Amino acid sequence: MLSARNLEVVYDDVVLALRGVSIDVPEDRIVALLGSNGAGKTTLLRALTGLLDIHDGEVTKGRVTLDDTPIHRASPERVVRQGVRQVLEGRRVFVELSVEENLKVGAHTARSRMADNLERVYALFPVLGDRRAAVAGYLSGGEQQMLAIGRAMMSEPRYLLLDEPTLGLAPRMVENIRDVVLEINKGGTAVLLVEQNATMALSIAHHGYVMETGRVVLDKPAEALLKDDDVREFYLGLH
Ligand code: ATP
Repeated sequence: MLSARNLEVVYDDVVLALRGVSIDVPEDRIVALLGSNGAGKTTLLRALTGLLDIHDGEVTKGRVTLDDTPIHRASPERVVRQGVRQVLEGRRVFVELSVEENLKVGAHTARSRMADNLERVYALFPVLGDRRAAVAGYLSGGEQQMLAIGRAMMSEPRYLLLDEPTLGLAPRMVENIRDVVLEINKGGTAVLLVEQNATMALSIAHHGYVMETGRVVLDKPAEALLKDDDVREFYLGLH
């Protein structure tokens, strides 16, 4: 289980971005993380993957644990080696490298299994297999998102953290990403899914959290969140 307990995060010694956040991502589950802009979702992902330092952020209280071992002081490389992998918001791929080269870069923790993992990623995203020699910069936005997720899958993560994977994508591509997240989870990887698209996220998640101004304000099974009046009004646009 990947967990945050009473996590407090401060940026530049002054900006209090998380004010005592606790969440659990159990093995093999899909967990949705919802919340408006600036609620602290990205900060929480950074805290879970050792990426706070490079953003001048610091855990000032609480802790992050992986199978009960504290990891909030671990380097990003160690966190990846331990099976926790994040796909950053904004589809960061190496635009000048080919699709396959991008995937090979992602494989640094499991070189000996590179060929198997490449096939696994191509099975998950057939379009990447078809375009394996194409320069990544020429892929569509949706394809680049697939490539970013595929690259993360090359290191066989136990936990995959996705930051807004469907942002700006056409509905058909959103469906595609949704199916892939389900497939990845079926393969035994737990997923923490940060999404603006609450309907999509809650339709596949087992559990969900809603954050507001650095706090978790709702913590419920996804099904219950879909029925929650505030969630329906603010995140699903239903009354
Ligand atoms: P979004 O959906 O807009 O990405 P979010 O829920 O992911 O929002 P965060 O990006 O985690 O929210 O931001 C939480 C708070 O921390 C905000 O007030 C933001 O301005 C602040 N913050 C984020 N990154 C930094 C940084 N590097 N330095 C200072 N403040 C930051």
